[in-house]
Amino acid sequence: MVSRSLAAVWHPCTQMKHHETIPLIPLKSGKGIWLYDAQGNRYLDAISSWWTNLFGHTHPSITGAIKTQLDTLEHAMLAGCTHEPVIELSERLGQKTNGQLGHAFYASDGASAVEIALKMSFHYWRNVGKSSKTEFVALENSYHGETLGALSVTDVALFKDTYQSLLKVSHLTLAPDNRHATEQLTEIDIAINAAKNLEEILEIHHDTIAAVILEPLVQCATGMVMHHPEYLKLVRQLCDQYHVHLIADEIAVGCGRTGTFFACEQAGIWPDLLTLSKGISGGYLPLSVCLSSDQIYQSFYHDTFSRGFLHSHSFTGNPLACAAANATLDLFDQLNTLENNKLLGAHLDQAFAWVNADSRFSHLRRCGMILAFDYMNSPPTFSRDIFTHGLEQEILIRPIGNTVYIMPPYVISMDEIDFLSSAIRKCV
Ligand SMILES: *Cc1c(COP(=O)(O)O)cnc(C)c1O
Repeated sequence: MVSRSLAAVWHPCTQMKHHETIPLIPLKSGKGIWLYDAQGNRYLDAISSWWTNLFGHTHPSITGAIKTQLDTLEHAMLAGCTHEPVIELSERLGQKTNGQLGHAFYASDGASAVEIALKMSFHYWRNVGKSSKTEFVALENSYHGETLGALSVTDVALFKDTYQSLLKVSHLTLAPDNRHATEQLTEIDIAINAAKNLEEILEIHHDTIAAVILEPLVQCATGMVMHHPEYLKLVRQLCDQYHVHLIADEIAVGCGRTGTFFACEQAGIWPDLLTLSKGISGGYLPLSVCLSSDQIYQSFYHDTFSRGFLHSHSFTGNPLACAAANATLDLFDQLNTLENNKLLGAHLDQAFAWVNADSRFSHLRRCGMILAFDYMNSPPTFSRDIFTHGLEQEILIRPIGNTVYIMPPYVISMDEIDFLSSAIRKCV
């Protein structure tokens, strides 16, 4: 029998029966990179609470901005109304793309932003008289969320197989994976080969394909699979050549996580549509956004109502969440985050160098503030075992399959990186 309080809450991505033996962590508070439970035990939040938290828990600036907004306007519908926090956020995000993606459409979670991008692309083609373009291309092992539309461009068997008959079928293209690099096969060769596969698909099906969706630089949920920026350049060229949109899902890799504010910047390209969520509100409140190009926006701009983008969520552009996001963008400037993260990244390489010296591990890799390595011959219970051992070492980590990774908040110190590294070493 599970206890009453346990059964009342149905937890995400969880087999509830496992909690008969693995207790939940009853969290009480958070401060900086630390979470505290009811007994006063502390845990270093090494994966930023599912990749959402950028500047630590209960940061006074973000908390303060939410409190101020709470006393001013907590929420109002965004149809027919507007407000300062959502205008400010939209303008700032547009500026960060040099005006390339100057139109922001909001939702509350990542999967909904992906749905918006898919619908917007499809509807654009319809608006310009190409209503045959109704299909999408996703990368093998992609993850774009778990609502039905987002799941149809996701390729993770565990999440997808059961629901397959509810989903639209997408084209899958070869995913570039730097782990396959050898002396004969460079990361750029891998990018070129993967792009060739996409070209074969587009060559045959471009008349019916609306968009290619991908996670730039790191396919996170698959196990932090990284590729060379060259791949993004090639995909951009192919999308232009075959008149197909490029959707960059930056829900996990955006907001500075890979070293630049947007991951796409490292390839010197812009997508037609770009999704953000997770870190955008600093990890404080649910907020997501789909940024679009002017060309897409203009195709909806018309006297006819039904040519508009007919999509809405009750909490679209919630002022509290936008205020948290604006405070988060302020912190990027005040703390010189992108520069500082370069130093932290270099320290991560040093602190985790021991991984390379141990033959049980392979493919130590890092992109910005994401570090990962694989454990060979891991037992099926590896992920849960490491999670449990982690708690004993005062760290919160959740390996993906046999991939151990960290994605810490940007306010982690060098000493705390050393602590994290030695804690992980003890766990494995
Ligand atoms: C987490 C994630 C999503 C889904 O976001 P939710 O807020 O969990 O719905 C979509 N795409 C990527 C790349 C993600 O990491």
